[in-house]
Formats: sequence, C-alpha cells, structure tokens
Amino acid sequence: MKVIFFNPTVKPFFKPMTSPLGVLSLASYLNANGHDASIFDRYYRKENIAEFLDREKPDIIGISVITNRFMIDALDISKLAKKRSITVIWGGPMATQIPEVILENENIDYVSLGEGEITWLEIANAFDAGKPFDDIQSLAYMKNGEFVRTPERPFTDLTELPPLDWSLVDPTKYFQPYYGCRKMIYLYASKGCVGNCTFCYNAQYHHSKHRSRSYTQLVDEIEMLADKYGMDGINFADDLMFCNTSQIEEFCNLLIERNINVVWGGNLRVGIAKKPETYELMHKAGCRWILFGVETGSKHIQSVISKRIPFGMIEETFRMSSNAKIISIAPFMVGLPEETEEDLRETVALAKRLCSTFCVFNYFTPIPGTVVYDKLVAEGKYTPPKNLKGYSKMFFAEHLIFNSSEVPNRDLRAVFRFFQLRMLLFRDEFNVKGESNLFKKIFVNAMKSISSHGFINFIQSGFFGFFTFVDMFLFYLHPKLRKKYDLYFK
Ligand code: SF4
Repeated sequence: MKVIFFNPTVKPFFKPMTSPLGVLSLASYLNANGHDASIFDRYYRKENIAEFLDREKPDIIGISVITNRFMIDALDISKLAKKRSITVIWGGPMATQIPEVILENENIDYVSLGEGEITWLEIANAFDAGKPFDDIQSLAYMKNGEFVRTPERPFTDLTELPPLDWSLVDPTKYFQPYYGCRKMIYLYASKGCVGNCTFCYNAQYHHSKHRSRSYTQLVDEIEMLADKYGMDGINFADDLMFCNTSQIEEFCNLLIERNINVVWGGNLRVGIAKKPETYELMHKAGCRWILFGVETGSKHIQSVISKRIPFGMIEETFRMSSNAKIISIAPFMVGLPEETEEDLRETVALAKRLCSTFCVFNYFTPIPGTVVYDKLVAEGKYTPPKNLKGYSKMFFAEHLIFNSSEVPNRDLRAVFRFFQLRMLLFRDEFNVKGESNLFKKIFVNAMKSISSHGFINFIQSGFFGFFTFVDMFLFYLHPKLRKKYDLYFK
C-alpha cells in the first residue's frame, strides 16, 4: 500500500514549533513493515497538492491534526484527495477528541483514534488483502449514516518501535534558535504522563500512563542528528520527560558516557527529581531548561484541577533546579472554574516568588473529553462549537474565549498581559531590572520570538493586534488593577 502522510500548516507564514514526530513514527513503522510510506510537510514543501496527488497516486493519505489550528489546511488537502477518490484518514490528539464532528465532513473517511502505529499497520495490511477496515481497533467512521467507534486497542510498547527514519524529512527545516541553541530540534523520549489533571487531554488520550522509548535508540538518534546535521539542542515534546529518577539517571549517564555534547530540556513534574544531585547530573548531561507545570498558587484551585503538590515542594524544586544552573519555567493557567480574585492573587504571588526568568501564563480553554469540559457542558456553562469550522476558529490558551472563573475578564487579561510583558522583558540577556528601556526590550525580544516561531505564531499568541493594545492600555491605565494583584516589575 502506498500512503502519504501530510503534516498540514497554518497559512501563510507559519513556522512550526515542533518537528512532525507523529507522522515520522507512523511512516517509519509502516516502511519497516514492508509498506510504502512517505511524508509531505506543508510547512516547507511548496508543491501544488493537486498536481502532487495526480503524480504520486497514493492509495490512502493520512493527515495529522494535532491542534485545531491545522484544520483549515487539513480540510483543503482532504477535499483535493477525495476528488481523486483517495481514502482520507485523520489522526492526532485533536482528531481523537472530536471524531463525531470530523466525520460529519464528507471528505474524511476515517479517524485513527489515539496512538496510530499498529492501527495504520492493520489498515495497510487490510488494504493489501482487499479486506474492509471495519473491525480494526481504535478507528472511527460513519456507516449507513451512523457514527461507529471500534474498541480501543492496548498501548504499544515504545521500545519495540523501530528508530525514527529522519531521511523521510529534512531535519534542518525544523531547527530553531532557542535557549541559546542555534539548531534546536523537537524530539520525543516518552509518551503520556502519570498525572490526572482534570483540564488536560492526558487522562483521556494516554490513560495517565507514561511509557518511555528505548534510551539507547534515542541516544543513537541524538548522536546521528548532531553528527550528520549539526543539531545542537533538543526540546523534548513529551508531556513528561521522565517519571522517575532511574530513568533520568539512565538517560543522562548514556549521554555522558558517549560524550554527546548537546543541550536539552522539556517537561517534568514537581516531585519526580527530589535531590540536588539529580539536577546536577542533568546539568552535566546537558539539561538547561525544565518546565514544571505549576498552574496555580491556590490550594483551592489545585483541588479543582486535581494537581495537589505542596507549594513548599514547588519552591524547593525551583531552588534545586536554579542551583544546578538549569532554567526553571513555570506555566500557569488563569480563568479556571471556581477561581476567585483571592485565588488569582495567590497565583500571582507564587509566580513572582518562583520565576526570575520565565513564567508562562495561559487562559484556561475547555478541551473536549476532559473532566472539566464534561462538567461545564453538563452544567450548561459551556457550549461547544457546532462544527469543524467553529473548532478551527478557536484559540486555545492564548486568547480569553471563555471565562469559567469568578474573576472579571478585565482582571484576567491584566494578569495575563503583565506576565507576557514580564517574559518579553526578562526572558534572556536583556535582563535589565526595572521598567526603563521597556519598549526597546519588548521590541528586541519580540523580534526573537518572531524568528523562533514565525510571524503568524507571534500574532496568534496575542502579542500583536488591536486587542493587545486595548489590553496593554487596560493594564497600564489601571493603577487599581496593578495594585489589586501586585503587578509591578520588581
Ligand atoms: S502534569 Fe501536565 S501533562 Fe500531566 S496530566 Fe497534568 S497537565 Fe497533563
């Protein structure tokens, strides 16, 4: 079977944050099992899709829909493929969250639910044998106008998957200047997270399980990318890089033994690495940044989101990480259900205590299939978009599209803008204390953001445009709000 996996883009100037790890794994797995799979990444391949399909004549195309931002392009590609009677299958986290909505579109035949390697192999084998796909596990489709979802398949042992075949793409296209690297790339070391946060897709998608790749295979891949392409940094795209210290030690010792000189970072949960020596080992092995999802400074909100981590442990973790010269980054979320002004004040206070450099603030947006989402919909507090077009227009995390908290929108936006400005001001070597040179620093760091992630990404992340200016004015012309939440750069 000949299959082409498409990595859709956000038009027109989008620079992807991550490399197409999902389709890379699927294509590598199918090829290792005797099929003919390739990848068309819309970000850097500019060929006309209709002409490409006419020339290549794939039997099936797969489209990776990680977030809603890629839906418009995914729909365009699907339409062109369907015109040529090519079977169209969507997959990825966003596709898994709303298969019923996706399959209302006549140009999409199937949705591969969850992890796709084995599902795709069974699809390819069934296609070659001329058999229907109806009984393949973890698949959704329409039959006689009815939505069908086949039983979920067990998770794959990641150590049994073949290495990623990076010759299927051009790795240099995904290099980014980031955290002091010039050629940083996104890789993955594991899938899933042991956490159970009620707003996160993890419990539904990974069943709160964490699975690691073979570290020997991963380190081989790192060595190859460094030697052959000059890669000098890795940001792990994982929800959780490691779930215990023995994993940290195994990975770090392998990098040290093999003298691999790259820097790296990614997500870790507070409480996994509890000793200063672990952070020192990580630094020795090249770790330079870690994101610890703190989310809130309020005990009350911690119980709403099921993320009960003692604040003392959070502060101690940041101290250990900082002492080992690893940058700690703390993502926070505002606008959560039941959040009060007092909760928000506690969050701001914790963020200011923790972060000397990076504090990333996001607005809560309900993700389909999560506990919080189901509750809000059941209580009639949230009405999901009616169709794919509606979903494609949603902004997750960067725009305040829905406020389920008890805090006024105005206050949430002021806090969000304050930390956004703070990050632009203090994110790196332009770390000059105070508010002097404010606009120069904002300008320089904004340029850096654009060069890292592209102009469209910058605009979409809310740094620019009419509403930003309104928010900035709101923030600066509202001394009462600044006082209320202690929003001062100090
Ligand atoms: S710790 Fe992070 S990845 Fe894990 S469940 Fe919570 S929000 Fe999701």
